[in-house]
Parts: sequence; structure tokens; C-alpha cells
Amino acid sequence: MNRRDLLAAGGAALTLPALALDFAAPRPPAAMRVSADRIVDIAVGIRPFRAQGPRIEAERRFGKTLVHHYGHGGSGWSLSWGTAQRALALLQASGARAGERIAVIGCGAIGLTTARTLQQAGHKVRLYAKDRPPLVHSSAATGLWTPDSRIVTSAHASQAWTADWESMARASFKVHQGYLGLPSGPVEWHDGYLVADEGFDAPLPAYPGHASEPDYPDLGGRIADLRPQGRALGAGEHPFRTPHVRRFTQLVFNIPAYQRLLLDDFARDGGELVRHEFRSPHEFARLPERHIVNCMGDGARTLLGDDGMTPVRGQTAHLVPQPEVDYALIYRGQNVVALPRRDGLLVAAMGEHDFGNDDLRPDRAHSEDAVRRLAGLF
Ligand SMILES: Cc1cc2nc3c(=O)[nH]c(=O)nc-3n(C[C@H](O)[C@H](O)[C@H](O)COP(=O)(O)OP(=O)(O)OC[C@H]3O[C@@H](n4cnc5c(N)ncnc54)[C@H](O)[C@@H]3O)c2cc1C
Repeated sequence: MNRRDLLAAGGAALTLPALALDFAAPRPPAAMRVSADRIVDIAVGIRPFRAQGPRIEAERRFGKTLVHHYGHGGSGWSLSWGTAQRALALLQASGARAGERIAVIGCGAIGLTTARTLQQAGHKVRLYAKDRPPLVHSSAATGLWTPDSRIVTSAHASQAWTADWESMARASFKVHQGYLGLPSGPVEWHDGYLVADEGFDAPLPAYPGHASEPDYPDLGGRIADLRPQGRALGAGEHPFRTPHVRRFTQLVFNIPAYQRLLLDDFARDGGELVRHEFRSPHEFARLPERHIVNCMGDGARTLLGDDGMTPVRGQTAHLVPQPEVDYALIYRGQNVVALPRRDGLLVAAMGEHDFGNDDLRPDRAHSEDAVRRLAGLF
């Protein structure tokens, strides 16, 4: 499956370089109960896309060190720990002393993982944020390991950039593994099925909104070894109505549990959380901390006037949780993804006008349509 399949399959854009082989399923997967009346919530969020890739750099401003750490597009949860390690290295290179209190601005995936990374390195952290979970854009994420989703444009993906991205993706993957096997299940491995009406070699119709998006590089092959291989399934090996099915294995983040755990760990290690909205960068000058890490996501677009940034809207319907469903589903060519999260069965579909769109109003008809297309599989 190539990157376009995944973009076409859903907002979260799984990139699975090689699908297949895992071990024979002992029992057929339980059917998903997908109908519009089971939609209990619709989450809308903004991906902070930056054409050049995430901005991770330090500058001196207002007599302080300001480390920028934002612009993770559709990859923030996946890549967070790896990019946070880079932000920490920049702080250390700029003279932040062990034990010194650092200001982190932002309480989304990037702010929280940065705060934890700094605490683990021996720093005290005070986190300033306008909003905290579940009101941040990160709370609307689907929750798939997709470190290559809308992370850079092809025009900016040089060899050096790509090698750097790969090392951050690997470092992040390593940290996520440390969150497996916990009672609240912040990180879990699940099987998934890529299903299609036409053979996987058939060209995909362009996904809605395709024409308005830039060209993205296919990075998945660089980290193909980080997940089990998938394989094609024959009729009788799966319960779906489509003739073409492949099984894959996928890392899933249960976002509410992950956020809750990070917040709890942050507080347990003495972290402070201050509610504050910065209306101008000049306000950084008034902070008592000498070192600041800017993890404002899409907020940096407006506050800092970064014109490389583009908001990319995403919407996910939450259906009543179905604990017996333990697999993800991607309907190729139909632009739908379903994910078995503990807080609900998530159904995502790409919209026609996501790129450049920061409209946070839910579009229920869009989610109901995605649910209908999925229901046709069972
Ligand atoms: C629908 C959808 C699906 C997604 N699916 C996935 C996925 O499956 N896997 C994956 O890895 N990624 C996914 N993403 C991408 C991921 O969610 C983002 O990359 C990530 O949320 C970015 O996190 P962030 O912390 O930079 O931003 P945010 O979550 O937006 O956090 C920004 C923080 O900064 C604060 N802030 C902003 N401006 C100010 C200000 N002026 N003053 C004070 N505080 C401020 C905010 O209040 C907030 O606390 C998805 C995103 C969406 C929208």
C-alpha cells in the first residue's frame, strides 16, 4: 500500500510500506456496529502543517533562549518524543543548567511530551497554555503511528532532512514502546485490514481535496522494519464483503488515556500548569524562566506569523465503544478509516476542503456518510 492509498483511505493517513504477514487469526473479527445513531461525538481539530517540516530551532529573543518546537502536521503524536529530544539538545546547547526551570508553552501532544522529556533530563518545568486536554487539537487526533503523515512537502524533503526525520521517528517509536502493557492502554498494537472493491494494483481515484494539497514524499519505506509485515487474505479468511483484503499490524494511541497519563506523570514530577494565552511574542519577555520552548502548534502560525504554516482540518466521529472489536479498518478507494479505540470506535474520512481550512465546526453529514460507507462492508 502506498502513501496515496492511505491518504485516500482516511484523515489519519496510515502509511504502511509493506503489509502483511502476521500470524493466523484464531477467530474471525467481530463485526463493527456502524450506524449513524451510534455516533456519540464528533471531534474536529487542526493539523499544524509546515511545508519545511517541524520547526525545531533556537533563537535569542528578549534576553532569553526561545526554542521553537511546532509544525508537526498529521504526525504530532507519532513523532513527538523524537522531536522533543531535539528540543532538549538545543536547550542544553544554549546553556540550560540541570535543575533549572524551563517554560514550555502549549499543552498538546508536543507540549506534554516535551515537558516529560525535560523532566526526565532533570529539569523543572512550568507549562503555560491557553487550553489543556481535551480542548487542544491533539485531543481530536485519530491515534495511529503515522510519523510520515503531512510532515513535509516533497520540495523540502532533502536527503539530509529525510535522514534526520528517520532518526527522530525511530527515537519516538522506541519511547512509545515503553507505554505498552499499562492498565489504561495508552499505546497498543492492533491488527488492521485494508479492504478494497478493486485489486490493490488498480489506480486509486483522487481523494477529495487532493488537488489542493502539496505533493508529499513517500517516507514509509525508511521505517518499514518497525512493524510486522502484512499479507493478503483469501476469501474465507475474513468476514468483509469486499473481494480484496490485506491484513496489517498497527500501533494505536488511545489518546485520552495517553494524555491523562502524561498529565499525571507531569504533575507527579512537580510540573506546574498555568492557564495563560499569549497575545504577543513580547509577553515571553515577562516570563520568569530564562529558557522557553514554544510548542504552540497551529497557535504559532498566528502569534509568530510563520507563513510556512497551513492549517489542515480533520474530523473524526466517535461511535459507542465496542471492546470486542480489536482491529482497524481502511476502505481503500472509499476514503474511510475506522479505529478500535478504548474510548470509542473512531470513524474518519477526509474532507474536500481540509487543506488551508481552520473551521472547527463539526459537519455531521460528512461523518454520517463515512459511517454509511463503512456499514456496507458488514
Ligand atoms: C483529525 C486529526 C487526526 C490526526 N491523527 C493523527 C494520528 O493518527 N497520528 C498522529 O501522530 N498525529 C495525528 N494528528 C496530528 C496531531 O494531532 C498533531 O500533529 C498534534 O496534535 C500537534 O500537537 P501540538 O501540541 O503541536 O498542537 P495542539 O494540540 O494544537 O497544542 C497546542 C497548544 O498550544 C496552546 N496555544 C496555542 N496558542 C497559544 C497561545 N497564543 N497562548 C497560549 N497557549 C497557546 C494550545 O492551547 C495548546 O495547549 C491528527 C490531527 C488531526 C486534527
